[in-house]
Amino acid sequence: MNGKEYVQSVLEIVKSRNEGEKEFHDAVTEVLKSLVPVFDKHPEFIEAGLLERFIEPERQIIFRVPWVDDAGIVNVNRGFRVQFNSAIGPYKGGLRLHPSVNISIIKFLGFEQILKNSLTGLPIGGGKGGSDFNPKGKSNNEVMRFCQSFMAELYRHIGLDTDIPAGDIGVGGREIGFMYGYYKKLAGANDQGVLTGKGLSYGGSLARTEATGYGLVYFTEEMLKDNGNSFKGKTVVVSGSGNVAIYATKKATELGAKVVALSDSNGYIYDKNGINIDVVKDIKEVKRGRIKEYLEKVPTAQYVEGCRKIWEVKCDIALPCATQGEIDKQSAEILVKNGTMAVSEGANMPSSLEAIEVFQSNGLLFGPAKAANAGGVACSSLEMSQNSMRLSWTFEEVDEKLQLIMKNIYKNSSEAAKEYDQEKNILVGANIAGFMKVANAMMLQGIV
Ligand code: GLU
Repeated sequence: MNGKEYVQSVLEIVKSRNEGEKEFHDAVTEVLKSLVPVFDKHPEFIEAGLLERFIEPERQIIFRVPWVDDAGIVNVNRGFRVQFNSAIGPYKGGLRLHPSVNISIIKFLGFEQILKNSLTGLPIGGGKGGSDFNPKGKSNNEVMRFCQSFMAELYRHIGLDTDIPAGDIGVGGREIGFMYGYYKKLAGANDQGVLTGKGLSYGGSLARTEATGYGLVYFTEEMLKDNGNSFKGKTVVVSGSGNVAIYATKKATELGAKVVALSDSNGYIYDKNGINIDVVKDIKEVKRGRIKEYLEKVPTAQYVEGCRKIWEVKCDIALPCATQGEIDKQSAEILVKNGTMAVSEGANMPSSLEAIEVFQSNGLLFGPAKAANAGGVACSSLEMSQNSMRLSWTFEEVDEKLQLIMKNIYKNSSEAAKEYDQEKNILVGANIAGFMKVANAMMLQGIV
């Protein structure tokens, strides 16, 4: 069996065994197709049934999350934790709270996380979790009761050396605080390293809040430099206005770019003078409001209803930082038509498979999520190290390590692309580089 036949046969297993799970199918398809030459070169992987094992999560936990809202009504959500692969370290990955969450989305995110975590060079395996709970419009107490009920089940499945959750969409410092407080009560131990993204007063790491957005910009700057360019003087569009978008905007601006648009699920703002990120931080981080409130502080800006329209804004560099599937083929074609030179992904799988094809066939630089947004989880791993050592590094120390990690991710991905005759294809390079480390570890550990 050659590489192509092997990949095809495993993709068929993925489709028949996980019926209707589109996001998971798409994520696996994108990765496996790029691994074909790896299996041609390593027939021993085929003999060891490596891919059949790689696409099957080690463990999937689905549980009931009951909680009582402020009106005294009982609500029931569904909780998930997928412990996907522990070949190179304990399961590591965020928790997402969003009404769209289902097993397909958690598995796609967990699958991507295996490769992303491997690319960081740090000893962390892949996992992901979350719930279909919608935090929007909920009171502080409702969010706390939900987090406590969620942790009442999750705590028995996680641990310092087994599985370390963190934030993702809908889970930030507040939620991690509620979850950690309840974990500590149930476990009867101050195991700080069991969750990352904690507050600074109880074991959190400096620069973790900034890490995903900053890391995205460090990675993208490296990719631009390798192609004789940089952020300086460029017009940038960033979608989303959550943690990743905010700190990507801040760092890109620091490097001399002008970020002209940001969005939320209702629409986008356009500020031709460059977004004032402090105004956005106040709306999103303090008031937990909507992006259109930006106009109350900056009346010269514009607000446009409909978040997808953000891709019609002319820009040199696009940083999708909202959510999966936010750039479809049509939006990708508009970006190409408007002369965009680079697209780098802050969200997980924001570009559809067709959109990626449009970018690549038109010669745009493309920074795939698992490489470009790995800064968050990398910094989480640094938080775990600090917790184990019972030490705290300074902001500068963490930021310096983050910069080095992002540079290495770019270097390793681009070298892997070259080795497999796909020069400049960072998507293929990241998949191969991330996969090889996990594959080698799996080969050494026997059939498990
Ligand atoms: N949710 C983030 C991601 O997609 C961070 C995960 C973590 O810090 O464990 O990588």
